[in-house]
Amino acid sequence: MYSILVEKLISALRCLPGVGSRSAQRMAFHLLQRGRNHGLALALALEQAIHKIQHCSLCRNLCETDICHICANPQRDASLLCIVETPSDVIAIEQTANYKGLYFILMGHLSPLDGVGPNEIGIPELLQLVTQKATNEVILATNPTVEGEATAHYIVELLKNNNSNLRCTRIAHGIPMGSELEYIDSNTLGRALADRHEII
Ligand SMILES: [Zn+2]
Repeated sequence: MYSILVEKLISALRCLPGVGSRSAQRMAFHLLQRGRNHGLALALALEQAIHKIQHCSLCRNLCETDICHICANPQRDASLLCIVETPSDVIAIEQTANYKGLYFILMGHLSPLDGVGPNEIGIPELLQLVTQKATNEVILATNPTVEGEATAHYIVELLKNNNSNLRCTRIAHGIPMGSELEYIDSNTLGRALADRHEII
C-alpha cells in the first residue's frame, strides 16, 4: 500500500504511546508534505537525546550529565527525599514550587507479573542514596493506584527495617482544590475523611 520508506516511517512512529496506525499515517504524511525541516530537526533531536541522555547516578532522573541539576544544587534540602514513579512526576512537583528536597525516581512501580521487581525500580540505589545523604524524611509520592500503594508499602517496610528512626510519610489523598464534594467519588471522599487533619 505504501512505499517501503513510508511504511517504515509509519511503523516507526507507532512506537509512541497512544499513536495507532491512523495517527502514525497522518504524522508521516504531514512530515513528508509540509514539515520536512521539522522532521529533520526531530530526527536530529531524537538521535542526540537517545545517545546522550542517561540516568542521574543519584536520583535516576533523565539528564545528560552524571548528576542532574537538582541533585547537584547545594540549595536543595538533602535531608528530604521524595520518591516518585516517573520523571513527569518530578516536573509536576517542581511546578508546585512547594518542595525543596531531593528526589528518587523509580521509573515505574513494582509489578512482579511484568518482571518488574526491586532491582528494576532501583531499590539498591535508593538504599545507598538514603544512607549517603543521611536522609531524615522520605516522602512516598507514588501514584494512588493499587500498584503505587503496594510499591510505597514495600519501600517503607524496607527503609524502616534499615533505619527505624527514618521518618516515612505518604502524600495526602483527597479533594482537588476548587471542586465540590457531591462530585467526588466515594473512595476519594472516604480517604479524605480518614486522613483529615486539625485546622489549627
Ligand atoms: Zn539527580
